[in-house]
Amino acid sequence: MNDIIIAHTKRDLKDAISAKRSYKATQRNKSEDSITLGFTPTMGALHAGHKSLIEQSIKENDISVVSIFVNPTQFGPNEDLDKYPRTLESDIAMCKDLGADIIFAPDSKQMYEEEDEITLNPPKSMGYILEGYYRPTHFAGVIRIVLKLFNLIKPHNAYFGKKDAQQLLIIQKMTKHLCIDINIRGMPIIRDKDGLALSSRNVYLSAKDRELALRIPRAISFIDMHKNTKDIESLKRGAYEILGNLEIDYMDFYNRSLQLTQEIKGSIFLLCVRVGKVRLLDNLWLD
Ligand code: AMP
Repeated sequence: MNDIIIAHTKRDLKDAISAKRSYKATQRNKSEDSITLGFTPTMGALHAGHKSLIEQSIKENDISVVSIFVNPTQFGPNEDLDKYPRTLESDIAMCKDLGADIIFAPDSKQMYEEEDEITLNPPKSMGYILEGYYRPTHFAGVIRIVLKLFNLIKPHNAYFGKKDAQQLLIIQKMTKHLCIDINIRGMPIIRDKDGLALSSRNVYLSAKDRELALRIPRAISFIDMHKNTKDIESLKRGAYEILGNLEIDYMDFYNRSLQLTQEIKGSIFLLCVRVGKVRLLDNLWLD
């Protein structure tokens, strides 16, 4: 029972949670009711960014569940759903090494049983700008799957990366608006040695493109180094200069409600840049 349990169906997931709950209660000399559950939703192809979320969940909870599901409803019609990297075996090995308790790896039929389902939309002010402007159905798909996973797993704490800042803020709003009693934990961005924010989609970058992509963390560092200035326009100009001829989908300072802001303090500097066919997201949360 100390071993990781891999559940592919909702029924197996329920059984796994209940088995782990009773095992942990005995092992930790706690009542079953007081056993805490941490949850990290992922689309797999796990890297050190995911690892940091899972580690935090293990640190803060009695039971840690990781979901691995490439969620079709968050992909647009011309996006990379079919070629999205799938590495279930090595993902399982990583979760096992870290000491996670349960992996939930369902197929699409498990998660979407009926064609005509109740759906949810993100707030108009947050869900259709930035990423939502370029991917208008994306956040509806994200909240749809995350809500299902929350209801199946019923975690106390759920772990999300600040890397996907807009997603994190929308999930926080979802729990608030729908009165969901789950603590949403936003975790720092993990970067590769060369500074590029880790992403499962980085495998799409050629060596040449990766070199160009390094302008993104350089722009982020520039903002970080000069964040104490009052002149927000000079910060943006500096970042534009560093990015040079890369195609920028968006780049600006936003407040925590995703409104444009002139106030550097308390803002998030958000950007999305295209390198080759890949859209790369990065950001900096400013205190
Ligand atoms: P994904 O598998 O891309 O859906 O990501 C699953 C979770 O991992 C999301 O909450 C992401 O924000 C988070 N994540 C992805 N990349 C990173 C990173 N480089 N640093 C921290 N968290 C990340």
